[in-house]
Amino acid sequence: MAEIWQTKELVAEIKARVKADIENIMAAKGIAPGLAIVRVGENPDDISYERSIIRSSDQLGVKARVYANPADIPMADFTALLARLNQDSEVHGILIFRPLPPQLDYDVIKHLLNPAKDIDCITPENLAKLFQGERDVLFPTTSEAVVEICKHFHGPLTGCEVAIVNRSMVVGRPLAMMLLNENATVTICHSKTRDLPAVTAAADIVVAAIGKANFFGAEYFNSESSVIDVGINLDSAGKLVGDVDYEPVSSLVKAITPVPGGVGPVNSALLLRNVLTACQRQLQA
Ligand code: NAP
Repeated sequence: MAEIWQTKELVAEIKARVKADIENIMAAKGIAPGLAIVRVGENPDDISYERSIIRSSDQLGVKARVYANPADIPMADFTALLARLNQDSEVHGILIFRPLPPQLDYDVIKHLLNPAKDIDCITPENLAKLFQGERDVLFPTTSEAVVEICKHFHGPLTGCEVAIVNRSMVVGRPLAMMLLNENATVTICHSKTRDLPAVTAAADIVVAAIGKANFFGAEYFNSESSVIDVGINLDSAGKLVGDVDYEPVSSLVKAITPVPGGVGPVNSALLLRNVLTACQRQLQA
């Protein structure tokens, strides 16, 4: 039976450190880190994620505010909102929920966000830093959650073979660069990878992030595999599940993250840590 990498304690540690640092900033400067959440439309997943960010922000002392926009907001109004938030000295971090509707050109928008307030690493400037191996960038939180979990439970990643099944800009590509920074040997897989089970079964750590409920059965792993399940899906019974078929896989592999209770909560905690770091840097600038 696998070791279950429950992230509750890791999340509590991250949050405790963030809370203490925010209390110090409040005591020294009377300033609370400010987060602007920019939502377009009424996607229930966005609204539920937004509620959980607000709850955690309240607990930690981040001043979070939601900017909810109609689904048909014109590009000019959206860019005007971004320009206002870029200028607002009480906003230290800006989170834009994606995907955006077609009238909002993401390829233009990603250039308009102030890189200092870019807490999810979407601006070309910050991504360029990330791909050049610079470490002072605010890392994209999903990828950083995977790296934090690996380092916390597995230990140093030097020489480790990691297979990532995802090549998106949200997960796979930035994560590959961050794992290279940790001296891992990285393979990026996708829907055209030949013999995916052979590639994943040969890795020490497999990051499953394809967005398909229970896709990865035991044939993708071996008894020494550590499995990080990034997927968030509803199965046919409406239950929240990952990309990995948990029961058969957890009885085979060495370690596995559960869904829920694995990557997701670390991701949310790191988002608030990024708001804090952005605030600290803006106060020093
Ligand atoms: P995405 O843009 O749709 O990317 C999915 C990736 O999976 C693509 O690279 C795709 O390959 C690959 N893929 C799909 N089917 C495959 C198959 N049968 N075999 C091999 N590769 C396959 O999705 P995303 O935005 O990166 O998100 C991926 C998942 O992560 C989703 O479930 C999302 O909900 C979850 N997520 C979780 C968190 C969290 O906090 N836990 C945060 C963010 C995202 P191609 O490129 O060839 O199409």
